[in-house]
Amino acid sequence: MTTPHQQPVHVRSGHAAEFDDHPHDECGVLGISTPHGDGVAQLAFFGLFALQHRGQEAAGIAVSDGQRARLHKDPGLVSTVFTPEALAPLTGYHAIGHTRYSTTGGSSHRNIQPFLVETMHGPLAVAHNGNLVNAPALRDELLQRGFGLTATSDTEVLTLMLAAAGGTSWQERLERTLPAWKGAFSMVMLMADEVIAVRDPWGFRPLSVGRLPAGGHAVASETCALATLGCVEIDEVRPGEMITLRGAELIRHQALAPATTPARCTFEFVYFSRPDSVWADRSVHEVRQRLGEELANEAFVDADVVIPVPDSSIPAAIGYARASGLPFNDGLIKNRYIGRTFIEPTQDIRERGVALKFNALGENLRGKRVVMIDDSLVRGTTAGPLVKLVRDAGATEVHLRITCPPITHACHFGVDMGHDGDLMAARHTVPEMVDLIGADSLAFLSLDGMMRAVAAQEDQRDGYCNACFTGRYPIAVGSAQTKLSFEGVLA
Ligand code: SF4
Repeated sequence: MTTPHQQPVHVRSGHAAEFDDHPHDECGVLGISTPHGDGVAQLAFFGLFALQHRGQEAAGIAVSDGQRARLHKDPGLVSTVFTPEALAPLTGYHAIGHTRYSTTGGSSHRNIQPFLVETMHGPLAVAHNGNLVNAPALRDELLQRGFGLTATSDTEVLTLMLAAAGGTSWQERLERTLPAWKGAFSMVMLMADEVIAVRDPWGFRPLSVGRLPAGGHAVASETCALATLGCVEIDEVRPGEMITLRGAELIRHQALAPATTPARCTFEFVYFSRPDSVWADRSVHEVRQRLGEELANEAFVDADVVIPVPDSSIPAAIGYARASGLPFNDGLIKNRYIGRTFIEPTQDIRERGVALKFNALGENLRGKRVVMIDDSLVRGTTAGPLVKLVRDAGATEVHLRITCPPITHACHFGVDMGHDGDLMAARHTVPEMVDLIGADSLAFLSLDGMMRAVAAQEDQRDGYCNACFTGRYPIAVGSAQTKLSFEGVLA
């Protein structure tokens, strides 16, 4: 096997680490408007169900019947928050929904979305994916103006700014408010008789729109949710675009000029988005396979089997195996139903760390030299236990290959990776990481390799955010805003 674009591969001299890793998913948003009002809450439920991977802490749906808005939201998975009894009162023509992982504000009940307020123009509900980098300043400004705030997330700030904006329509209020928002926002808003969706001018987070088969339209963070609802004519909401859904009507309007250089989040391709989603006209599954192919070209190692860390690394492992000529097989089985448990593991289970989530398939690993593909290394807490699990199952060598470059900087646009100081690659060299993890070797995909996989044509490779790998933020982030930076105000 030849190895073009050969990358340095670092070989170990020592051993291990501990516990849970991976950047945390952001949030999923959904909006629906129908002319007939049949089962709009059920549609929202199934749409949110398809966005569950973007947030498992809480879920909410707000529905309007043209006059009144109703809301149900609670902590938990979509399927547990929305029982038939909870959905039954949510009747109407228009709906928005949200699945939450807390990126700003803690995980308390008051931060669950959508936010619903009564305004002098009727009901207004807001659900938001992303992070505003200037939220602290906007929040202070609201407090100075005499507003009381009940929550600690920036979504309430957006909601109150909108409610207080002057104008004769919600579209006008939005256009007056939007220029003040700096950062990542893919948002849906519910009013008495319409749903409005808007995306920031950089296009950090995905947002797409499609036509429902029985009439009306839906917008969603990912196309997988629109496909679940049977949508056709699916199209991306453009950066800076505002889309109004009103029954059968769909009105598109460029509310803000798109940024000269857009900043789509590369990590959506590496890890967050569901593989059956399409973004920037690229299939996420296909991009992940290409990430694996690029990695095999850059960091080939002679071995007996290529295994993924399931589930997100499966397509990349297929790509690595294909490009390297090595056989692909399962080596780890993930408990797909673990979700978020509120039951504390016993000390014995806790000590076995990743055993809660993964078991090794000894028959596929015994006596084998293994290449293990993972999508990212964040705090570096699970890589060591996973390597140990594979070794304990009989592997003679374990070579770890990561389908993105080292993550060295925190994200300020809606992804919780922790602070710079939490990130393993910000604190250690690759040889040090090899020793800490206990792998026989470790290699990361290069930035160029990642971008070759994300965009086949060289002229398509601009317009992506890579700040967590490079520290070059597409917009000034000011003093680092953390997930809990407002928590000191409200206990
Ligand atoms: S910093 Fe990283 S995770 Fe955050 S938007 Fe940019 S590429 Fe995505």
